[in-house]
Order: sequence, then C-alpha cells, then structure tokens
Amino acid sequence: MNKLISVVIPVLNEEKNIKTLLKRLVPILRSYNFEIIFVNDGSTDNTSGEIKRFANKDRRIKLVSFQRNFGHQTALSCGYNFAKGDCVVTIDADLQDPPEIIPKMIKKWEEGVDVVYAKRRKREKDSLFKRWTAKLFYKLINVLSDTPIPDNVGDFRLLDRRVVKFINGLTEKSRFLRGLVAWGDFSSAFVYFDRDERNAGKTHYTLRKMINFALSGIMSFSTKPLRIASYLGFATATLGFLGIIYGIVGKLFFPSHWVTGWTALFTAILFLGGVQLITIGIIGEYIGQIYREVQNRPLYLIKEKVNL
Ligand code: UDP
Ligand code: MG
Repeated sequence: MNKLISVVIPVLNEEKNIKTLLKRLVPILRSYNFEIIFVNDGSTDNTSGEIKRFANKDRRIKLVSFQRNFGHQTALSCGYNFAKGDCVVTIDADLQDPPEIIPKMIKKWEEGVDVVYAKRRKREKDSLFKRWTAKLFYKLINVLSDTPIPDNVGDFRLLDRRVVKFINGLTEKSRFLRGLVAWGDFSSAFVYFDRDERNAGKTHYTLRKMINFALSGIMSFSTKPLRIASYLGFATATLGFLGIIYGIVGKLFFPSHWVTGWTALFTAILFLGGVQLITIGIIGEYIGQIYREVQNRPLYLIKEKVNL
C-alpha cells in the first residue's frame, strides 16, 4: 500500500519562503510516496525561479504557473485538478500552517476519514482585528447559510480522492472551497495546531480582499440576503403606511396642532431611497454572479508547467 500523497501549495510572491518551506516539508514526506505541486498565482518576484531550482533536482516537486493572479481559491482549485494523489493536502507557503502535523492528518485519513481539517487552536499570533473579523464572518455565514462551515478552519486540510473528484466536477466559477467541502457532508475529523507567524513577507489578504472573500462565500451559499431585501421592503412599506394613517388622523382630528412637516417628508424620502438602493444592490450582486457564471470563462490560464 504505497499510496500517493499530493501536497498543493498556492504561492503568490513567496520567494523567501520556498527554501525554508521545502526544508521542513520534504523530510516529513520522505517516508511516503509524494508529490508537491506549487501553483504560482501570478507572482512578480522570483518565486517561480526558486521553485524551478528545486524542481530541476527532484521530479516530485512540480510547478504550474498562472498567466496572472487569479486568487488563492482558484490556485487551490487548479492544484486539485493537477493532483494525482490518493489524498491531497493543501497548505500555505508562508509556514503559518506547520507541515509537521501532516503525518497526523494522513493517519486520520488512513483510518478512513474523507476530510481532515487542521483546526487552529489559538490564533494569538493573528491580529485582534483578524480574529474578530474571522469570528464575525463564521457567525454570519453560519446564520445565513444552510451548510454549516466549521470555524477556525482555513484551507489547511486533507481531502480524500473521492472529495477531490467531487470538487473537480463542480463547474461553478465562484469557488469558496471551505463551503464546497462542507456542502458534501463527507466524514471528517480535526487535527489541532497553533497558527504561527508568517515566515517572511506580508499577508496578501488586504481588508478589501477579505471583504470580497467573505461576500463571495456568503453569496455562494445563501440566497437569504435576497429575502432580507424583501423583508426590508415590507418593513418600510409598513412604516410608510403607519405614517399615512398618522397624517390623516392628525389632519382630520387635531387640525389646530398640525404643522406641515418638512422634516418628516425629507427623512422619509432619504430612508426610502436608502432602502431601495440597498435592495437593488443586493439583487445586483446576485445578477453579477449569474453573469460571471453564464460567461463561462475558464477558471485560470496556465503560462508554464514543470514536471507535470
Ligand atoms: N496566495 C495566492 N494567491 C493570492 C493570495 C495568496 O496564491 O491571491 C497564497 C499565498 O502565497 C499563501 C496563501 O495563499 O501561500 C495564503 O495567503 P496569505 O498568507 O497571504 O493569507 P493569510 O495567511 O494572511 O490569510
Ligand atoms: Mg499566511
């Protein structure tokens, strides 16, 4: 039983991390039959040169380079497409995910589990802001979506070939992998770790990217925001109706106290306008998503492959 273990590593401008990562990762994998697939997500530094240096010496180290930056989730999806292993482990290149726990994950998988999540026990190395926003995000998505997504679980996980096959078969362009894996409801287990600090370089997840990621995750897994839009509409219509009754009653029965209300009119217009814009915005987001799916462009464009 010499099963093949694939390790997929998305990389964007990680030239300073490749050597350190391989130095820690390769000895751990040595007792297995393995392949390491780097997906270079449009790096503008020497990341691909660094990887090739190692790939030229060891055919088990492989590289796919994208034409440009397509994003972390797309890079992972590409890795799943190319991986040949009986199981596939995805891990970040910056050593925030310790490779040392991979054997533990493999062990769980050998016991028969389809999905092994590496769960962050502590995130004290992450900033307070990151921890809070992450917490809020998981709360929100679990309220909105019918697919429960485990919290404190990132993209460091092991998938059995069955699950990888399922993911590869999905045609959707918006790939929120955490949700897609959870959606399949495969048997799963957790392995715990403490998240380290980044080895070198800076995070690529700016606030803007984090918000985009969160929104696309929520939209891929829930249409409840559309319902919230309808509720907002009902609520404001009810308020408006009450306002009309108030106006009529006031004018008819208390004419001496009744003063023409410019302020009320003004705020009502602003409020209604706001609610309408929010609602149109929410609908627009979903239409945009449908548009992207209908365009049916490829998920990524490949520039170069090494050892693949
Ligand atoms: N990454 C990528 N494409 C991107 C952004 C990030 O391939 O558009 C890679 C990055 O090189 C790293 C992993 O995804 O290996 C996680 O990114 P990062 O460490 O910046 O995120 P964080 O750990 O701060 O959430
Ligand atoms: Mg990181």
